Amino acid sequence: MKDAILIRAVQEAKDIKRFDIECPGFEYKCGQYVMIAFADKPDEKRAFSVVSKKGDIITLGIKRKGEFTSRLFEAKKGTRLLLFGPYGKFTLPKEPERIVFIAGGIGITPILSMASSADARNKTCNIFYCAKTKEEMAFYKEVKALERQHEKVNLRFTKQGDKRISCEDLKRIEGFKDCYFYICGPPPMIASLREQLEKSGVNPERIRSERF
Ligand SMILES: Cc1cc2nc3c(=O)[nH]c(=O)nc-3n(C[C@H](O)[C@H](O)[C@H](O)COP(=O)(O)OP(=O)(O)OC[C@H]3O[C@@H](n4cnc5c(N)ncnc54)[C@H](O)[C@@H]3O)c2cc1C
Repeated sequence: MKDAILIRAVQEAKDIKRFDIECPGFEYKCGQYVMIAFADKPDEKRAFSVVSKKGDIITLGIKRKGEFTSRLFEAKKGTRLLLFGPYGKFTLPKEPERIVFIAGGIGITPILSMASSADARNKTCNIFYCAKTKEEMAFYKEVKALERQHEKVNLRFTKQGDKRISCEDLKRIEGFKDCYFYICGPPPMIASLREQLEKSGVNPERIRSERF
């Protein structure tokens, strides 16, 4: 456990804020998450993926959901927090593989972390990022900027009735069956894509996911 301080909270998209938290001595692997608690309530923790780290400042992207995230949204600069972790195995393989990242909504946080990492440089990456509208798409600029580094960045807005990302989109990628698939988002999206990928002959060991 480490002491941490809220340095800044900035509106990033609808119902989503970017939180900068100072936490000296914290190290992590891109794709991992931390558990956060308020210093005055150490037993109530919630999981958030680390988007990036610069010096002692860790950036998180958080969507307001219930009580805990609402308290975070209203917290003032200087609020004392506790940081536990890092945790998780949702991290990139070492080998120069072909990677397909698929993010739904706030599920972009660990994917942006991995796709921007030094480890992603020896890999061929395709990114699919889905949100209801552009206003609800967090880290839009950062994800767009990855177009310079990676094979393709596909952004899709899926208001009710619009086409969601499906296996048909993924099958167009060169070497489809040998890619690693990293999926992060709501559980139904993960379950549906996992089922479609397995049915299409992708080795289940090459499908990795994080349920938010
Ligand atoms: C590995 C991982 C990474 C995540 N990364 C992100 C991220 O980067 N950004 C983001 O916005 N969301 C992320 N989430 C989702 C985020 O943790 C939840 O949205 C958040 O905990 C909701 O908290 P809340 O209390 O505001 O909402 P509520 O809807 O009130 O909380 C949901 C309910 O679930 C229960 N609950 C949830 N977590 C815990 C816990 N740790 N201990 C005890 N009870 C719990 C409580 O009963 C709570 O009332 C991640 C989740 C996981 C599992």
